[in-house]
Amino acid sequence: MNQKIEIENSDITLYIKREDLLHPYISGNKYRKLKYNLAQAKKENKNTLLTFGGAFSNHILAVAAAGKENGFRTIGVIRGEELWDKIAENPTLQKAQDFGMVFEFVSRTVYRDKNSADFSKILEEKFGDFYRLPEGGTNDLAIKGCEEILTKADESFDYICCAIGTGGTISGVINCSKHSQQVLGFPALKGDFLKEDICKFVHNQNWELVTEYHFGGYAKVTPELVYFINDFYQKYQIPLDPIYTGKMVYGVFDLIKKEWFPRDSKILLIHTGGLQGIAGMNQLLKQKNQIEINTYD
Ligand SMILES: *Cc1c(COP(=O)(O)O)cnc(C)c1O
Repeated sequence: MNQKIEIENSDITLYIKREDLLHPYISGNKYRKLKYNLAQAKKENKNTLLTFGGAFSNHILAVAAAGKENGFRTIGVIRGEELWDKIAENPTLQKAQDFGMVFEFVSRTVYRDKNSADFSKILEEKFGDFYRLPEGGTNDLAIKGCEEILTKADESFDYICCAIGTGGTISGVINCSKHSQQVLGFPALKGDFLKEDICKFVHNQNWELVTEYHFGGYAKVTPELVYFINDFYQKYQIPLDPIYTGKMVYGVFDLIKKEWFPRDSKILLIHTGGLQGIAGMNQLLKQKNQIEINTYD
């Protein structure tokens, strides 16, 4: 569903695709990324999904919820061995556990090496046969799922804007865009390795990265960003997550203000979801005595 966003004193037409409304826990793009992987796991007769993530990962919760709905056992390999007795304090992990996910907490060193043959063997010995989903869920089947984000009705947009973590989602969006459209990616983290990663997955050249809106890096937020997210909700009743979509929408509004887009441009924002992460982020902000993201239910 595309929702119009009215902007005062501007000739820009702006819509947001509410992928966040696809499912309450299998959030936005994670739903798209899991679709064909779940089908493949079933085809391979696997009964277990195993994946990797940090303490507040949208992907971890999405896999837990998808496993529960589709009859898979789920294992989450979580970065941070100190978290093992803090599940009840962590809204993401608690919810994932409620969905039946079993955790394997590992040190940051082990986590860094999570794709090694040695560690894979340890996991297999412990958990038996499983269908492996990479951290963030990005693989070829995930991109295939994300190629369904844009529909025929979206062909009239000049710009498609999307937040980036691993680059899987935007790769799908690029692959299903028209050559006449420009896809803008807003990385939520620092570093320019993303460009190469995305190049591996796409067959169109109509895209570029806008790298100025990471707000200090992955999972970092500033009071200015939180203020923007709260203000945006006040104006449009659309909640944004602070890790991805909030940064992208902030960036687009800033570019509109700077008249970066040509006159009369039609822009589509992709709301990739991630709203479950707000509770965890607010815990951190509270500890630091910083302004929190408003919640409304
Ligand atoms: C995971 C996530 C992203 C990043 O998706 P990638 O495919 O890893 O680039 C963007 N937005 C939200 C809300 C997410 O949860």
